[in-house]
Amino acid sequence: MTPLTAIRRCRRHAAGLALGAMLVPAVFAPLALAADKKKDPDEIGNRDVGKGVNFYSIEKEIALGKQMAQEVERQARIVDDPIVAEYVNRVGQNLVRNSDAKVPFTIKVIDSDEINAFALPGGFFFVNTGILLNADNEAEMAGVMAHEIAHVAARHGTRQATRGELVNYGSIPLIFLGGWTGYAIRQSMGLAIPMGFLTFSRGFESEADMLGLEYMYKAGYDPTSFVDFFEKVQSQEKRKPGTMSKVFSSHPPTDDRIKAAQKNIQELLKAKPEYVVTTSEFADVKTRVLGMHNRKVADTSKDANSGRPTLRRNPNGTIDANGDEKAPQTDSEDRPTLKRRD
Ligand code: ZN
Repeated sequence: MTPLTAIRRCRRHAAGLALGAMLVPAVFAPLALAADKKKDPDEIGNRDVGKGVNFYSIEKEIALGKQMAQEVERQARIVDDPIVAEYVNRVGQNLVRNSDAKVPFTIKVIDSDEINAFALPGGFFFVNTGILLNADNEAEMAGVMAHEIAHVAARHGTRQATRGELVNYGSIPLIFLGGWTGYAIRQSMGLAIPMGFLTFSRGFESEADMLGLEYMYKAGYDPTSFVDFFEKVQSQEKRKPGTMSKVFSSHPPTDDRIKAAQKNIQELLKAKPEYVVTTSEFADVKTRVLGMHNRKVADTSKDANSGRPTLRRNPNGTIDANGDEKAPQTDSEDRPTLKRRD
């Protein structure tokens, strides 16, 4: 199947921005209530997750992010293949629509093997091809993207920078400024982006983990795919140290983040009868990226190479003699892959 056919056939994501959904007025609630709302996926869009001390107006944040994005585009190799770019953008915009973000997103793909994605303040979002190449399905890619969208929705970049400025005045001890993400990005790409905007505290990281899980869940994806990808990156690094991006290695998918994510999935996200795992389009686009790099399709994942929708079943489902899981019946071939709740 050609990727073009796959795009026509897959109508699951409606393209374009639902600006209306983003302009939901902020709800003014007491702090305790606001915190609880953050844990309730039904409140997505009706809560102000970006609240906090911030020296930057939204307008200033967007202008700043745009400036940084131009710098990134000057230095990084942006993928101009329309099929790859359009697909990644569409998956991202669908997540944005299911998030608390109040800014429109610009999503671009960077041609780089490093497993990395980063969103600048104001919604300028870059996804490395390394994410596509290392994800086994669309839900895994969506999990990483949802995490980055959460950083923007919660305005972590400018809030962190505000903290940095406060630090300069000596009002907040340095211990609150964990993480070296921004530094790693500057080192690996030589970018002139002020560190504060990409350097997130542990608190912001765990918040982005939680919100990102809610966004991907609301968009219909299996939230456990986020944990799957985390674990994969972790084991890859153990097998072959140094393959992980500098960003991930300096801000690793640690056991406590994995445990917290599993706990959040159990406690906050009501089980759904089925989830999207992948689409035929994901496999096609991944193959296309591999082709761009003139690589062999060496991935062992069947999901990634079959070129047709694949389905994951619960452990009680049937498994054939080859150990392959039997796909539940679908009414048409172009339906996204679904997974029954374990
Ligand atoms: Zn993060």
